[in-house]
Parts: sequence; structure tokens; C-alpha cells
Amino acid sequence: MSEYIQKGELFSFNLLKCLRTSYFHNNCQECLEICPKEAFFFDRRKLTLDFEKCTNCSICLGVCPTEALELTFFDPNEFVISEGKEIRISCKKNVPCLSGFSSLHFASLLLRKERVFIDLSHCQECELNPDNRILTSIQERVKEANRFVKELGVEKEIEEFEEPPSRRNFFKAIFKATKTLLQEESFKKSGVNKTPFKWQLLKNSIKLNFSSLPNKTVSTSFSFLAKKRIENSCTNCGDCVQFCPTDALFYNQQGDSIFFTAGACIDCNICNDICKSNSINDEEKIDIIAWAFDREERLIKHQLEICQECKTPFPYVEGEKICSRCKEFLEDFKDIFKLANEEPLD
Ligand code: SF4
Ligand code: SF4
Ligand code: SF4
Repeated sequence: MSEYIQKGELFSFNLLKCLRTSYFHNNCQECLEICPKEAFFFDRRKLTLDFEKCTNCSICLGVCPTEALELTFFDPNEFVISEGKEIRISCKKNVPCLSGFSSLHFASLLLRKERVFIDLSHCQECELNPDNRILTSIQERVKEANRFVKELGVEKEIEEFEEPPSRRNFFKAIFKATKTLLQEESFKKSGVNKTPFKWQLLKNSIKLNFSSLPNKTVSTSFSFLAKKRIENSCTNCGDCVQFCPTDALFYNQQGDSIFFTAGACIDCNICNDICKSNSINDEEKIDIIAWAFDREERLIKHQLEICQECKTPFPYVEGEKICSRCKEFLEDFKDIFKLANEEPLD
């Protein structure tokens, strides 16, 4: 296991969770793009972290969709479940940088707290933000969280405040938050295992509020929401199921139907990209209660027949009983087969 984890003194990078490293077809490089120290680099195709350059600033934490990056002394999930009716987050008070939070964290906070305050007043003079790239990225995440909560019909927005420049409360606040994280572990265990914790937290935040939410249907235009559809052109090759990193797509026992749990989907689009017949598409709306409660739905059911060539079941429509892979194989090598039949070896 340890060969898959790059570890510094305070920071770790789990290659098994990294979409870019684990899936040939994925182009994620969010961490590489936002790191102000250029500490990420590609060693051939493998994403690698240079711990000499990494300053444990936490800036990349919020952009990684899979929580492949972790700091030992700061976990943004802890702030979502901290006690208190309101929360004030500042790099001069209780966090290393607000870029450690994703839109999911900000949205969860809005749903759980009466008021949420963030302090962006020090970003302009921060040496890690010389070109405002990091500030812009945080503001986009805050905007997305505000828009999500508004679509649910909740009249709340993240507010800004200004904390005086002193960091003396920083560690005290962090260790207090760790205690409450443990209480939410039961939620974590009952949820879909491979889905990152920040998704679980947002789903739990919806569950806590579901009876009072004015709108139960929202658009899937958010970076963390997706609802898939499989068209009849699906050849049942199973690639999408095999490569889905969170098991949001899965087969039933008979292998004739593909099911989908929207609440487990991290919208990485690996399934869309990997499907050779372009059979996976996205719906524009999603039932947020079904999402939060991990409701499963059948996306497609095939009539299975046994392939005459490879003797494995395949989705039969009409004509010859040969699966698409065998058909493709026979087509690709038809000249060789022809030659072999015409000129037998001595
Ligand atoms: S942001 Fe996360 S998933 Fe994406 S390349 Fe970096 S470590 Fe991998
Ligand atoms: S949707 Fe595409 S990738 Fe998934 S089983 Fe069907 S053909 Fe294969
Ligand atoms: S269903 Fe598709 S988009 Fe969702 S997590 Fe799986 S591979 Fe990614």
C-alpha cells in the first residue's frame, strides 16, 4: 500500500485516489495548476509531488475531487461538522488557507450553520497569491456554493468579514474541530464507501434539512452533481462500470442491467470518455433527495444471448448472435484469416 502513498512530514498524496494517475483517460491536473510553488510535476505519466518545494500551504486540498491530498494538521471536513450556529473562517484565525475548502464544503456549511463568514481580506497581500489566481478560484467555489443553496430555495449566502492579522488561535481551533469529526464517522461508514467524505458531508447536510427544503429538484450544472443516462446503443462492454472510481455505476447479479447511484458519482466523466459507442449522456436536472439518500436507478436492461464465438453473454438486438468485440476482432483481422484459409502452412 505504502508505495502508492507519497508522504512528506505533514502532507500526503495517495496515488490510488488520484484520477489522473489511476485512469489513463483522465486529464485532471487541478492540483498542479493551483499549486503556487509548482511542487507537482509529471514523472513520465505519473503525477509526483516534490516535497522539497511543497510548503504544506493546503491550497491544493480544496480543488482535488477525490481527497487524494491530505494534511495531518488540517482537514476541511472538520469545519463542516464543527459545533456552533455560526462559523468564521480566516487564515489569521483557524485555517492555513481558504483554498483548502471546496464548493461542497462551503455548501454544506451554509446548510448547517445559521451564518457562515469567510475572511478574504488578506489574499491581496499574500505571497502565495501574487496574480490573484488563488483568490479567484476561492471566489468561484464560494459563488458555486451560494448558487447551489439558492437553487434549493434557501435564502442564505456566505458573508465576508475581516480578522485582524494574528495566528495565535490557529492550532487551538483545529484540535477542537477534530473531536466532532469522529462523531460523524458513523455517517461515513453507512455511506457509499469510495465516494470522498466531502460528498458524504453534503449529502448528510441535505438529509438534515430535507423536510424544509423548498426545492427538491436542481440543475446538474454544478461541478459536483451528475445524473447519467445510458442510450440503447450501449454494447454492454462493461468499461464504464469497470473504470468508475466510486462504483457509482454497477451491474446487477445477472449482468443484464447497469445501475447508477447519483449520490456516489463525483462527475469525473471517466465513463463518458471511456464509452466507445458514446452511449453515456448527462441529464440536466436531478432529484436532490434521491441523490442525498443514495437512491439507485436502472439505466439500461439488455436482452442477453450467448456469443457464438467467445461463448460469453452479450446484449442481443437482431441478426447474427456475435458480440461486438468478436465482430470487431473478426473485422480487424479478416485479411489474416482469409490468408490463413487460402495458404495453409506446410
Ligand atoms: S487534483 Fe487530485 S485527482 Fe486531480 S490530479 Fe491532483 S491529486 Fe489527482
Ligand atoms: S455505456 Fe458504454 S462503456 Fe458502458 S457498458 Fe455500455 S457501451 Fe460499454
Ligand atoms: S459515474 Fe461516471 S462520472 Fe460518475 S464517478 Fe463514475 S465514472 Fe465518474
